[in-house]
Amino acid sequence: MKYLDYLNGSITPYHAVDITAKKLLENGFQELSFQSKWSLEPSKAYFIKWGYTTLFAFRTPKQVNSSIFAKLALAHTDFPALKVTPNACRFESGVQLVHSEIYGSPIFYSWLDRDLGCGGVLVFEKDNQIQHRLVQASQKFRIPELSIHLQRGVNQEGRKVDAQKGLDVFWSSSEKDSLDSWVKQQLSPEEKLLDYDLRFYDAELASLGGFHEEWVYSGRIDNLASCHAALEALLATDSAENYISGFCLFNHEEIGSETKEGAQSLFLKMTLDQIIKALNISEQCTPSFLEKSFFVSMDMAHALNPVYPEKHDPKHAPILGQGIVLKQNAQMRYATDVFSSAVFKQICSKAGVSYQNFISRNNLPCGSTIGPSVSSTLGVSTVDIGEPMLSMHSIREMSSVQDHQQMIKFLASLFKDF
Ligand SMILES: [Zn+2]
Repeated sequence: MKYLDYLNGSITPYHAVDITAKKLLENGFQELSFQSKWSLEPSKAYFIKWGYTTLFAFRTPKQVNSSIFAKLALAHTDFPALKVTPNACRFESGVQLVHSEIYGSPIFYSWLDRDLGCGGVLVFEKDNQIQHRLVQASQKFRIPELSIHLQRGVNQEGRKVDAQKGLDVFWSSSEKDSLDSWVKQQLSPEEKLLDYDLRFYDAELASLGGFHEEWVYSGRIDNLASCHAALEALLATDSAENYISGFCLFNHEEIGSETKEGAQSLFLKMTLDQIIKALNISEQCTPSFLEKSFFVSMDMAHALNPVYPEKHDPKHAPILGQGIVLKQNAQMRYATDVFSSAVFKQICSKAGVSYQNFISRNNLPCGSTIGPSVSSTLGVSTVDIGEPMLSMHSIREMSSVQDHQQMIKFLASLFKDF
């Protein structure tokens, strides 16, 4: 699937999982459910959704026996956003306004004077059943910036945005046309709204930029780039000889992963247990299976902005377009250790993929990823990697076409036999 289409369609984690699932079905993957018995066969492809925002897709090996293991890519489907509150609407001075809560850590000022879309999921009752529907408003909304004449010092002092009142979205000029009335229009008379999860997002379509169109400009690159790379690589490869190949996309990384769809949940472990059981190998994953397995935790990495070189360690500053970033941290904020980095480097070398090292400066706190939580829970050797990018958590981010291709190439090599 074209990368830019994936970015454009994945306006919320619900949409990202929906698009990914559709693509898997089109390519012969079979959807599984914990509500029915699994009978898995060798050399087949399957996937399972969890909570509509988390998804695990995998290929069973050609040879199924007690010595199989797993090679998985892990990423997250969520990204910073403005999440519409339950009682969000008010009409003031000729403007219908929508109030949101902040999801994750967006750069607030980047949301001003942008075209915003709104979408998510509606949950309703119909025929005594709880059902849901993904929705997207096609209109464009806005948070207008104050004029320079009303904040004379803004260029010297920087733009501070009041998180409570400064991010209310202008929805319409009509007292009748509120977000609430739009939500009602999305349901038929026999459908009774119970709740919604709606978010504002950057409505500008993803595009290529730079003189040679070498860069990607888009919202949500962190971490849909990784989700897309994992999907493309799994679609491009066949079943491996003696291991399960696949990817798991989790929700809620941006808010700490401690949810039922997050990387700290039991989802991955119980799915692996179920696979092993359905392949008639054992009742659950054995220590031997986990010890032989290898995970790649994928999340975006901070590229060097040449205007601000002081923000990076001079010898560990990834450059846009120069390859995948290998992330290491002595405090283990990344899951990479000396052995998992060795496996990563071996795959890069055999596949002809370029990589660059990232170490955080000692005087700057290091971020983290889902790698340490999954690796510490399951005891699986894990490497933390990612595509380099700029403007992380801005409403519109920037990365490199070349690095995305390198990531797909690396993952395809991971999923193949070596
Ligand atoms: Zn991320």
